Amino acid sequence: MQLIDGKQISEQLLGEIAQEVQDIISKGGRAPHLAAIIVGQDGASLTYVNNKVKSCERVGFKSTHVALPDTTTEAELLLEIKKINDNPDIDGLIVQLPLPKHLSADTVIQAIAPEKDVDGFHPINVGRMALSMPTYISATPNGVLELLKRYNIETAGKHCVVIGRSNIVGSPMSILMYQNSYPGNSTVTVCHSRTQNLSEITKTADILIVALGKPEFVTADMVKDGAVVIDVGIHRIADASKKSGFKLLGDVKFDEVSPKCAYITPVPGGVGLMTIASLLTNTLKAAKKEVYS
Ligand code: NAP
Repeated sequence: MQLIDGKQISEQLLGEIAQEVQDIISKGGRAPHLAAIIVGQDGASLTYVNNKVKSCERVGFKSTHVALPDTTTEAELLLEIKKINDNPDIDGLIVQLPLPKHLSADTVIQAIAPEKDVDGFHPINVGRMALSMPTYISATPNGVLELLKRYNIETAGKHCVVIGRSNIVGSPMSILMYQNSYPGNSTVTVCHSRTQNLSEITKTADILIVALGKPEFVTADMVKDGAVVIDVGIHRIADASKKSGFKLLGDVKFDEVSPKCAYITPVPGGVGLMTIASLLTNTLKAAKKEVYS
């Protein structure tokens, strides 16, 4: 069994991005610039945005952090988005989700200019992804593709089973895995909460991508010998024996599944660490006008 090391690959990616930024600047260009809007005081969201801003600094990007109170109206938020859309000095814009309940994520995402939507959530960018056109692929599926690529894992002709069909993970993941590219060219089965005989299907997977949001759901009897298992799930479980007071678990029961696998991502240390690197990759693409010229 080989562990897929998300920490090592994400560090490698950040190093490559930092090098490209230096090259751009040494040729007289300007640093890529990411703007992040956060509405409200949700603790986890503040941590995510701070980590994104810190990573920007690490690779030499410029970053702008717009913090708005949770009383912000939709009109006020849309105005902030418009200002950033219209600012030629800013390449990428993300609005941290979830938003306070009175704001519609759909309306907000659609207000972001597609060419600055480095989270890849705008329907235009999702549509471009589905049509195999140049686009910003959203962070989690992009991180999974990068891990498969960096470990040279064969995907063509393989049976890939994806558990989960959410808009941010399962659905794009399944589309990307059957497209005519690498990683891709797999024969894909998508499973969800109405799927019958789930374990009969997962047992036929050469590549099993698990994103259903239930701790340690996938057990050894659901996995074929020699499979590649990608665990997207992430759960904080109270654990008094840990200094932090919690431990992190994935959707896969790692201890019993890992001995059967050819490759597996751990939690923590797997897919989760790839998301910021994917966001910065998209911002660099935006600055280089690789998607929209
Ligand atoms: P989600 O929106 O809750 O979607 C879960 C999907 O799993 C749904 O399609 C659901 O089916 C399906 N499902 C639920 N129970 C099932 C069952 N018993 N059998 C088969 N399918 C089942 O979750 P998500 O946002 O995609 O996230 C999934 C997991 O990934 C979560 O643990 C989340 O925390 C994690 N995550 C991690 C990252 C990262 O960076 N590592 C990023 C995003 C999400 P229906 O459609 O029928 O309801």
